[in-house]
Amino acid sequence: DYLTRIKRSDPKVKSFLYVSEESVLREAEELDGKIERNEEVGPLAGVFVGVKDNICTANMPSTAGSRLLENYRPAYDATAVSKMRESGAIVVGKTNMDEFGMGSSTEASAYQVTANPWDLSRVPGGSSGGSAAAVSAGQCVVSLGSDTGGSVRQPASFCGVVGLKPTYGRVSRYGLVAYASSLDVIGCFGSSVSDTGILLNAISGHDKLDATSSRREVPDFTSQFISKDIFDSKPLKGLRVGVIRETLDEGVDAEIVMSIHGAVSHLEELGCTINEVSLPSFSLGLPAYYILASSESSSNLSRYDGVRYGNQCESEELNSLYENTRAHGFGSEVKRRILMGTYALSAGYYDAYYKRAQQVRTLVRKSFKSALDENDILISPAAPSAAYKIGEKKDDPLAMYAGDIMTVNVNLAGLPALVLPCGFVEGGPAGLPVGVQMIGAAFDEEKLLKVGHIFE
Ligand code: GLN
Repeated sequence: DYLTRIKRSDPKVKSFLYVSEESVLREAEELDGKIERNEEVGPLAGVFVGVKDNICTANMPSTAGSRLLENYRPAYDATAVSKMRESGAIVVGKTNMDEFGMGSSTEASAYQVTANPWDLSRVPGGSSGGSAAAVSAGQCVVSLGSDTGGSVRQPASFCGVVGLKPTYGRVSRYGLVAYASSLDVIGCFGSSVSDTGILLNAISGHDKLDATSSRREVPDFTSQFISKDIFDSKPLKGLRVGVIRETLDEGVDAEIVMSIHGAVSHLEELGCTINEVSLPSFSLGLPAYYILASSESSSNLSRYDGVRYGNQCESEELNSLYENTRAHGFGSEVKRRILMGTYALSAGYYDAYYKRAQQVRTLVRKSFKSALDENDILISPAAPSAAYKIGEKKDDPLAMYAGDIMTVNVNLAGLPALVLPCGFVEGGPAGLPVGVQMIGAAFDEEKLLKVGHIFE
């Protein structure tokens, strides 16, 4: 069914860069055999998963949306992928993305532009736009994305699905193509909070192959989904919800603000106490993020020299081999980030940019900490607007960056956040979805999923 649906819808939506029909059918048959023989199967048995193309898969290409990695086939699965497979999941294919995760609309893929299933003339968001669109269009049950500055949460909001960015360190980054290593996390998409929680269960936990993965115990994120509280009239009684004032200021579409107010009223009806909180350093997060992410990426992407990985442009001489490989292999957004990052890290500018940005990061982390000492969760929009038209912001990088204002601070602080649908605004044939962002304390995904599950 899923393969048929992909065949029918993907020529229009273009979520997938690669679909592995043969391995899907083989794995499904193997699973059938296991079930017939009464062998034990995992909690994701037979679940069709889409995987963002910057997450390594041993039997499929992993291009990270870049020409430079066009012919790259990793020799191994990323830890998140091998864990899913151990749970019985079937990887259906690799989803489209902005090159190396740099972008907010999936228009910066070297291969194709993915459309938003709600309105094919609009972007699905990004950079994990393919993974969000695939779940939204019913092409797979759940999918994996990555979130460096919002790439799971913003496309979830644009495509009307659930998106979860785990705490930094909760999920191993082994096998995730590095963009900005201190910010990158693998995240989950699903069409419900419970699906998303089941996927998080499968991929979480310590991994000796990733030194930054946490040794914290992983709770069963799904245990609360059968909680009896749900039958109370005020199932979230006593939960303290902080609404971040700076995220509902000017610059945010009025209809988005209205949807978020609606979500807050719903939480109040469920028994939450609502507080207004202020994060004074909020607006500094965006410039700090772009300096830090670009700096880290300029260092991480130096490995693509045409010798160690991917496509090589032939040349008589070593320096021109590097130059030609990069000139032809990288798209313009990636080149812009490498230039920005190299500039920010250069000797004379280090104190003015990189160091200042790190100081802002500390401020952001502290202000979240004090807001989360007073509140169980914090609320904001996931993006300042709903999905916009394909082409609308493509040639205006600053407008594109400004759209990340709601999400980047969470990455600077390393916190978990859940985005789930909370309403619609006008546009497209059937309205455009809007997502609300719930931010939790570090390693408290459990609470976010519980609140989200009761909310939805
Ligand atoms: N849009 C942001 C950027 O381009 C975030 C991307 C991401 O989370 N991968 O850096």
